[in-house]
Amino acid sequence: MNLARFPRRGYVTTPTPLEFLPNFSKALNAGINVYIKRDDLLPGAAGGNKTRKLDFCIADALRQGADTIITCGAVQSNHCRLTLAWAVKEGMDCHLVLEERVKNSYSPTASGNNFLFQLLGVKSVTVVAGGSDMPAEMEKVAAALRAQGKKPYIIPGGASNRIGALGYVSCAEETLRQLFDLGIAIDHMVVPSGSAGTHAGIIAGMIGNNAGIPVTGIGVNRKKDVQQAAVLKLANETLDFIGVTAQVPAEAVIAFDDYVGPGYSLPTPAMIEAVKLLARTESILLDPVYSGKAMSGLIDLARKGYFPNNANVLFLHTGGSPALYAYLDTFRDAPVAG
Ligand SMILES: *Cc1c(COP(=O)(O)O)cnc(C)c1O
Repeated sequence: MNLARFPRRGYVTTPTPLEFLPNFSKALNAGINVYIKRDDLLPGAAGGNKTRKLDFCIADALRQGADTIITCGAVQSNHCRLTLAWAVKEGMDCHLVLEERVKNSYSPTASGNNFLFQLLGVKSVTVVAGGSDMPAEMEKVAAALRAQGKKPYIIPGGASNRIGALGYVSCAEETLRQLFDLGIAIDHMVVPSGSAGTHAGIIAGMIGNNAGIPVTGIGVNRKKDVQQAAVLKLANETLDFIGVTAQVPAEAVIAFDDYVGPGYSLPTPAMIEAVKLLARTESILLDPVYSGKAMSGLIDLARKGYFPNNANVLFLHTGGSPALYAYLDTFRDAPVAG
């Protein structure tokens, strides 16, 4: 695959670390060796997966002469934080449209990513009700800015279109190169599956390279069949965009919905266990909305014998730890007497 012909800004300056998790694997005690790909350490304020996608999306915006970026997300969106961060770096304005997926969940004084929107100097925040037509809401903001002489460019939620997904095709290639250099044979990869660009890009990259590494997605929002259809469609659009003739077979796309719990962004006991276990064995911070639920899926699947005995399983850490600070009460232990 020749990704070099697509414009990008060069936000990913070095491969993110790929590490074995000896203490976590031992504590899990489920007959697998867990490795982690540290995309939480990507550049961009507080890091995370959207940097890889924005590398390509913002290059496209600049190529089209844009001076302003509009995007959307949930009230604690990592994607919004990183889009704003890279827009700042590029000297562009950034406007956010936030969807209250949980009723009354927006508070202008909330901590976590919301605090960072303010700190990084967001130009405007428009809050809309859950279930709103987000492309239409962003278009309204764009029309108002155009009337003021601005040149806005809209990046879809999660930067999950075929341009953004190139970032995760590139991550798949980076990962395969690292596994070769380190001499590690990975049997299975586990990835969070939200707006689908990450999962779709990884699958496209693995299939496009005939890697033979099965990928399991852990959904954080939508039902299994809906999510799988979204990932499959975007993965095939992305392969087509790159010019790869191979197609993704439907059975290669798995996105379990068993770990969502009561809904998007709402805590589950298994997510809390996963976040605490990784923090207390490896000093690595997951997040409550994506990587924590994805890791709770990996843990449960390992305990159920889903992976072959002694398998090397690679977990993609997509970042998101700033959201922890908007969930303090969720993670607080009972006070220790003494
Ligand atoms: C957006 C996000 C994801 C999900 O990635 P998608 O490409 O939207 O599926 C996972 N983890 C974190 C921390 C995110 O911000």
